[in-house]
This record gives sequence, C-alpha cells and structure tokens, in this order.
Amino acid sequence: MIPADFDYIIIGAGVIGSSTAFYLKSALPGSRILLIDRNHTAGAGNTAKSAALYRNFFSSQTSRALAASSIKYYLGICDKIHLDPIGYLWLFSKEQWENSQKSIRQLDPMKDDFEILGRDAISGILRINSEAKGHFPDVHAGIFCHLCGSLSAMALAQHYASQFVSVGGETSFDTDIKEFILTGQDSCYAPWDDVSVEGIVDREGNKYHAKQFIIAAGAWTHELLAPIGIASGILPKKRQLFALKIENTAQLIANPTKRPAIILPAGGVYIKPILERNMIIVGCADDLGQPFLMSDPEPDVRYFHNAIEPVLNHYFPGLSDYKLSLKWAGYYDYHWPDMTPVIESVANITWVGGTSGSGIMKADAVGRIAAAVLQGMEEAVLADGTKFEVSKLTLRDRNVEKEELII
Ligand SMILES: Cc1cc2nc3c(=O)[nH]c(=O)nc-3n(C[C@H](O)[C@H](O)[C@H](O)COP(=O)(O)OP(=O)(O)OC[C@H]3O[C@@H](n4cnc5c(N)ncnc54)[C@H](O)[C@@H]3O)c2cc1C
Repeated sequence: MIPADFDYIIIGAGVIGSSTAFYLKSALPGSRILLIDRNHTAGAGNTAKSAALYRNFFSSQTSRALAASSIKYYLGICDKIHLDPIGYLWLFSKEQWENSQKSIRQLDPMKDDFEILGRDAISGILRINSEAKGHFPDVHAGIFCHLCGSLSAMALAQHYASQFVSVGGETSFDTDIKEFILTGQDSCYAPWDDVSVEGIVDREGNKYHAKQFIIAAGAWTHELLAPIGIASGILPKKRQLFALKIENTAQLIANPTKRPAIILPAGGVYIKPILERNMIIVGCADDLGQPFLMSDPEPDVRYFHNAIEPVLNHYFPGLSDYKLSLKWAGYYDYHWPDMTPVIESVANITWVGGTSGSGIMKADAVGRIAAAVLQGMEEAVLADGTKFEVSKLTLRDRNVEKEELII
C-alpha cells in the first residue's frame, strides 16, 4: 500500500501533471513525489480526448512563448511522440482578414515560420469553394504555419510520466481522490488558524500525506477545489470531435504533398486530416450556448449534422462520400476570460491548469513553469532557453494578454 509521507503529491497524470512531475523531480532528485490519477495510466483523461494538434500561431505573446518553446522540446523527441509536422492552414474571410491585421502585423513570418496565401495559392492546396453564401463567408486569404502539426498526446503524457519514474518518482494509478483533509477542522476553520491541507483521501479510504499538494486535474479542478473554498478560475466546457471516413482524399486536398490541418472561416470548424487512413477529424470552436459544466459527456451526432456538416458541405462541395465512423467528447479546462494557463497557490496547495484547449501544445512550458513555482523561483527557463517570469500566470499578479485564437 502506497500511503506514506511525501514532499509533494500531484493529483492528475494528464499531460500537465506528468510534465510538472518530471520537471519537479528532475530539479529536486532527493524529494519524494507521488503522481496520482484515477485512470489506469497517464494521459487517459482529456489529454486522450484531444485532437492533439500543435501550433505556434497565437495572438498573445504569452501563448506564443509557451507553445514555441514546447514545440522546440517536442521536435527533439519527435519519433517518441509520433510528431507529424503537417502545418496549419488558417483561412480568413475578407472581413476576418481586415480585423486581424493588427495581430498579424505583430508576428514575424521568418521567426514564426508562416506564409500568407491568397485565394489562388489556397486553391492549389485545397479543393475549396471560396465564395460566400448565407451564413458562410468567403475565403479571402490564408496563413500557412509551418511550425505546426500533430502528435500523439497519450505518448507525450506517457513520455513525461515514464521519465518521472526513471528519475525516482512514484505513481499511484487507479486512485480516485475524493476529499481533502484540512487542518483547523475542529475550530470550524477559525480565521486565526493556519488552515492547510494535511492529506487527501481516496475512494477506498486510504489517506496520503504530503507537505505540498499540486492539483493538475484539468477540467476537474473546480470540482476538487471549490468544496474547500478555492476559486481556481478554471471551468470545464464540453468539446466534441467526429472522425469521417472519406473514400477519395482528392475531394479535399488538391496537392497530396500538402495536407495541413485546416481552420475554416465559419463557426470555428477545423479539420485534422489523417489521409494515410482515408480519414479526417472535425471539430468546432463553439462557445455561447455550451455551459461551463461537466454536463453530458457523450458526443451528440445532431451537433455534427447541425453545426459542422453544413460548413463542410459549403466549403468542400466535392466531399460527398464520407461516413461518420467515430465520435467522442471531452472537456476543455478554461481560464476565463484570458484563455491562458493558471498556476496559483493558496497555503500548501498549488493548482496548474486552465490550458483552455491548448494544453498539449503548451505542456512542456507549463510543466517547467509549475516546477519553478514549486521551488520558489521567480523565473523558469523554457526549452528554447527563454526565461519566463512565473508570476505572470498567477491569479494575484497576472500579466497576460487575452488569447483570441482559440479553436
Ligand atoms: C475535444 C478536444 C480537443 C482538443 N484538442 C487539442 C489540440 O488539438 N491541441 C491541444 O494542445 N489541446 C487540445 N485539447 C486540450 C487538451 O486536451 C488539454 O488542454 C489537456 O489535455 C489538459 O491536460 P491536463 O493534464 O490539464 O488534463 P487531463 O488530461 O484531463 O488530466 C487531468 C487528470 O486528472 C485526473 N483527475 C481528475 N480528478 C481526479 C481525482 N479526483 N482523483 C484522481 N485523478 C483525478 C484525471 O483522471 C485526468 O487524467 C483538446 C481537448 C478536447 C476535449
């Protein structure tokens, strides 16, 4: 049986908890660190539900720093995590293009590795209908981002978890944490008590004690922390993905040497092509109307037919022979309103989350920053050598811009 005294216990072995665990244990090899998850393996929560796309293309400087440095690390372990640098083709209507000029001018095509494409160049890549009709705007321009692609999110989480174990970290899977034991319970948490977490209790009644507790529970963060009086600022929102089998990939792609992930100008609909399996995965960046709740975890086929299929049919009129073969749903862990990760502490609890739909692509940086926070450092050194002031991601001294490019 595991229960014993630890220096740190991390609840949540998704990509964020596993990355944090690895960087913390690497920095503090003499400390006892336990990584806990209710699933049987690392990455089996929302990490496994993701589209697992990565990009360096964001509107906020903070997002770009977190993603670009993480991508740098991922490129170094590309085989292990099945990284495929397919690129992103972000499509804009005329109106969206004009409204985005201010953000685009802040980017550097050389450093950020992207090119701007007009309608003709886009037609050379995609069999797309560029004309507007009804709710669906025209396709006026595109940005082809080369430092983007897909990877295996499970493999990434498991890479961090196994590295953590290889440097002496301990894990406890199939361990569902139900409750915190707080000090000061006997005095009803009188304000002069120094209230902190003494331990945690799992579903079987086992107790685990540590000096510090790290909550990396993603979309479950609010559910865990609200009952002990912590407003984490992180809320869950359902997202769904649908896999379509397509008979002929030439109905979608004009140039088989280019097969980027595509962001369409309507409804935040995006496409991840897996052409070697004659498949595409489609999702949608819905917002208003989807509750900030752990509501129904099942994907809804009506959502595909009502919200996504009309967009696909409009922009890809040649795409006719497709079959819905798989569907699944998960939850984004949002930090509203800036859509940027949070690392904050109260007493001996630190929570790391709020990755707002881009946790896979930012996990390396977030793990390094969380490990620096837990060591009391003011700066973290990211994988590309840049220094990141850790207080920027706190709630108290937050200093980040709102991320506009959430899909
Ligand atoms: C449909 C969809 C598409 C996405 N696409 C992308 C994408 O293309 N690119 C990208 O970068 N991001 C994407 N994301 C977002 C990405 O999946 C998340 O940002 C990322 O997985 C967050 O990682 P995490 O470790 O914080 O959360 P999780 O992977 O959910 O890990 C949290 C862990 O905590 C555990 N846990 C929670 N409560 C308890 C408890 N009480 N006891 C024990 N264990 C507990 C859970 O079991 C879980 O394993 C997508 C998400 C969804 C839902």
